[in-house]
Amino acid sequence: MKTIIEPFKIKSVEPIKFTTKEERKKILAKAGYNPFMIHADDVLIDLLTDSGTSAMSSDQWAGIMRGDESYAGAKSFYKFEAAVKKITGDKFIIPTHQGRAAEKIIFSILGGTGKYFASNTFFDTTRANIEFTGAEAVDLLVEVGKHPEKRAPFKGNMDVKALEAFIKKVGKENIPMVVLTVTNNSGGGQPVSMQNIRDVKNVCKKYGILLFLDACRFAENAYFIKLREKGFEKKPVLEICQEMFSYADGSTMSAKKDALVNIGGWLSLNDDELALKCRNLLIVTEGFPTYGGLAGRDLEAIAQGLEEVVDEHYLEYRIRSTEYLGKKIMAAGVPIIEPPGGHAIYIDAKRFLPGIPPNEYPGQAIVCELYIQGGVRTVEIGSVMFGKYDRDGKLIPAMMELVRLAIPRRVYTQSHVDYIAEVVIETFNNRKKMKGYKIIYEAPMLRHFTAKFKPL
Ligand SMILES: *Cc1c(COP(=O)(O)O)cnc(C)c1O
Repeated sequence: MKTIIEPFKIKSVEPIKFTTKEERKKILAKAGYNPFMIHADDVLIDLLTDSGTSAMSSDQWAGIMRGDESYAGAKSFYKFEAAVKKITGDKFIIPTHQGRAAEKIIFSILGGTGKYFASNTFFDTTRANIEFTGAEAVDLLVEVGKHPEKRAPFKGNMDVKALEAFIKKVGKENIPMVVLTVTNNSGGGQPVSMQNIRDVKNVCKKYGILLFLDACRFAENAYFIKLREKGFEKKPVLEICQEMFSYADGSTMSAKKDALVNIGGWLSLNDDELALKCRNLLIVTEGFPTYGGLAGRDLEAIAQGLEEVVDEHYLEYRIRSTEYLGKKIMAAGVPIIEPPGGHAIYIDAKRFLPGIPPNEYPGQAIVCELYIQGGVRTVEIGSVMFGKYDRDGKLIPAMMELVRLAIPRRVYTQSHVDYIAEVVIETFNNRKKMKGYKIIYEAPMLRHFTAKFKPL
């Protein structure tokens, strides 16, 4: 088999700035050892997130020029609406400025004290929008998904038995909706199988509960189904996407992921009455229903991005390049969540630095070292992000200590990825010299964004 190449050539380039190790040590110290506080200019390779960091195509940029900025009934809206309908099959398509804006609208309407929502795993903004209404968000992930070292094809699946037990426990009338996050972002970018979507749908149908997709990475999920699920080997990805959405009553979407744009999102649904309520709220919080929180040009770019993201050469390259990075560092002994997910590689910091306990933040130690060694910016997903304190002020650690290397779409080439692997492997080989960190400042909420650290 020949090398899987980037299925594009480069028309416009953006220089990246090189710094020396000595310079990076100073930059990191000044940022309180928190890469969120570093100027992006001082980062050589930025793997902080895959959200809104995609490179747009020449056709998308052409769409930016074509954008119709009419307040009502813009031509660009109808293009956007048709593109989203083609994939979701849903009756009502409501544009929003990001995924969380769609979440805010739907959960404000369906949530409230005494209500419960269940998911394979809720993404943090989704959970926050549910809890903000007073409702509870419950994760019901399959057991294998909770073990980083165990390999399974669909570690993002929902535990269907647990769902049914949960419905019986709290009462179907108290559960307005079940959400399947595809792929499961917080669980390592692991996919959900078509069979699992069908099974969850059957349970929802039995009890009269809505099923929505948190569809941010729907195309990556569909490609995993094609690669791994029996009966889908020859099916075009677009048809797999359509089947996934066909079981759902609607979706929330961050176009900053699988619509290959830098801003945007949607809420799609089929229920007339619910759609009316959503649109009324949209007008208050986002904008008129034919632009939501977006400019006409953004709607054009999304419509075009949705055509490109289901291209199988693109998806082959996308999934393969993430896997390539995962396999390369695994071969050198670096422990990661297996198998590699769609949009990111997650290093298992507990196994990488077994000598550094959770209250000395092993994930943060790796994040800092990757920046110093190679100017690579990553993010800790462990006790810095999710740690809590008990009554005596002792840290209650997160379930896992991870470092996420998120891969922006169509941005880096294979030599960039080779370089990233070299930096990770070099850091791993020097792990015996690494030390933990202490938090010297933290905000009361979402502390990981602004916390300051000191090396121990
Ligand atoms: C990014 C993301 C969201 C939120 O979308 P924003 O556009 O960042 O508001 C929701 N769910 C998942 C799974 C995501 O990855």
